[in-house]
Amino acid sequence: MTVKNKVIVITGASSGIGEATARLLAQNGAKVVLGARREQRLIEIVNDLRQKGMQATYSVTDVTKPDEAKRLVQVAKETFGGIDVIFNNAGIMPTSPISALHVQEWNDMIDINLKGVLNGVAAVMPDFINQKYGQIITTSSVAGIKSFPGAGVYGATKFAVRNLMEVIRQESAQEGTNIRTASLYPAAINTELLSTITDEAALKGMNQLYNAVGITPDAVARVVNFAIDQPEEVNINEFTIYPTKQA
Ligand code: NDP
Repeated sequence: MTVKNKVIVITGASSGIGEATARLLAQNGAKVVLGARREQRLIEIVNDLRQKGMQATYSVTDVTKPDEAKRLVQVAKETFGGIDVIFNNAGIMPTSPISALHVQEWNDMIDINLKGVLNGVAAVMPDFINQKYGQIITTSSVAGIKSFPGAGVYGATKFAVRNLMEVIRQESAQEGTNIRTASLYPAAINTELLSTITDEAALKGMNQLYNAVGITPDAVARVVNFAIDQPEEVNINEFTIYPTKQA
């Protein structure tokens, strides 16, 4: 009942939290399947893991495209013979006040952060139901449990996936399919995420915060590892991960 030998699909695995998680899980014996849009980054990470004797593969995946999410899971099954866990982690965070009306960015966040998670869920669900077993872990955010100015739509997508994880857990318990779910609520983690912010004032504020308190993404990776490591009858629903210095 450990990470070792589990087949784990990770979206948003080309940088930040996804990359750190892929590296840690592979190091602990998991068979990891990386998905994201930047193929070169995926190739470099997978090659590095393989050179170290770990088991990893990838499939170029835009999570907004249901067929690409399905293909990612298919690659896991073809390469490693099954699918045990999906870590829905791909996301963007172009924060801005609602009054700035960055409507295209609102839609992009809904497409990637919410519909992208739904596409991941739909891709694994048939196998998880058939095998009466599986785990779905999703990166929400502290903006998924608390409201922050500038995070109106970002937070809306993160509140939404939080609800989704909990409902899947409850329905699975009722239906006897033994699907575990977890939502992660990280605070300031130093990754490439701030590069998705176009609003100058929002970016300035975030840069100040992250430079002052941000921690490395392996903090989140360790939590994912812990959630997967639990015995099958144990579901740890939620984790909040703050830098010690962040108020
Ligand atoms: P990064 O920007 O480093 O990573 C984001 C990942 O998402 C990249 O691998 C990117 O890859 C991928 N991605 C973006 N759009 C898509 C898409 N359409 N299809 C597939 N993959 C996509 O940031 P983080 O590691 O910080 O972000 C990971 C998650 O953590 C996000 O959901 C974010 O909201 C959440 N989070 C982060 C926090 C932080 O402080 N860093 C705090 C709370 C939550 P590519 O561009 O190659 O597709």
